[in-house]
Amino acid sequence: MEAEIGIIGGTGFYSLLENATEINVDTKYGKPSSKVSIGKIGGRSVAFIARHGTNHSIPPHKVPYRANIEAFANLGVKRIITSNAAGSLKKEYKPGDLVFTDQFVNMTHGRDDTFFDGGEVIHAAMADPYCSELRSLGISEAKNANLNFQERGTVVVVNGPRFSTRSESRFFAQQGFDIINMTQYPEVALAREKKICYMGIGIVTDYDVGLEGNEETKPVTFDEVQKVFSHNVEKIKSLINSVVPKISAQRNCGCQNI
Ligand SMILES: [Zn+2]
Repeated sequence: MEAEIGIIGGTGFYSLLENATEINVDTKYGKPSSKVSIGKIGGRSVAFIARHGTNHSIPPHKVPYRANIEAFANLGVKRIITSNAAGSLKKEYKPGDLVFTDQFVNMTHGRDDTFFDGGEVIHAAMADPYCSELRSLGISEAKNANLNFQERGTVVVVNGPRFSTRSESRFFAQQGFDIINMTQYPEVALAREKKICYMGIGIVTDYDVGLEGNEETKPVTFDEVQKVFSHNVEKIKSLINSVVPKISAQRNCGCQNI
């Protein structure tokens, strides 16, 4: 089977696919997080993997990132669209905002984060890890749909599964990072190594602990986080529905080179 576009997200995204077939996949890096569903969105062939497994049982530091990207690469995927929950490190990045991430800072450790770990020595360029063409398309579709969004964002990726201390969070905010998350790395870097275009759509669910103390940036309650998240999953699903059919057949970005 083949697919031109890959989607990684929560299980709620499964319903995006028309006429989906689930297949069991194995790679030289092991099995991906879930079975791979292959179906159509607006006539385009799309494969879907649930990042944390179908029962949401895989924590961020145990996600088989290499197997997920390898599975997509083996299916012929050239573009990957992902969604991820994120905490805000800046008051301008409000709960409910979508963030078209353009940079990451890696603070994770102990993860298998490269395909080039033996034999040939290859240093992948990582200056612009996110696909500029997909980002622009996402931004213009988000504008058309009147969504609240941020055109760019630097995500600091922490290992988890624990959240940050107040001091860690304040430190990240002082560095000028915009949002914080546990899964963008090494996912985006591995896609880069495979020369696959990658788009990361962050969903701001709450303000991180370092922003507490300011009346405007009070952390929302857990219930509110859940509400913000499920409401936004629907927004991202409709965004993906409008983005996928408009992805150009030919790639005009720099992602084909590493
Ligand atoms: Zn690209």
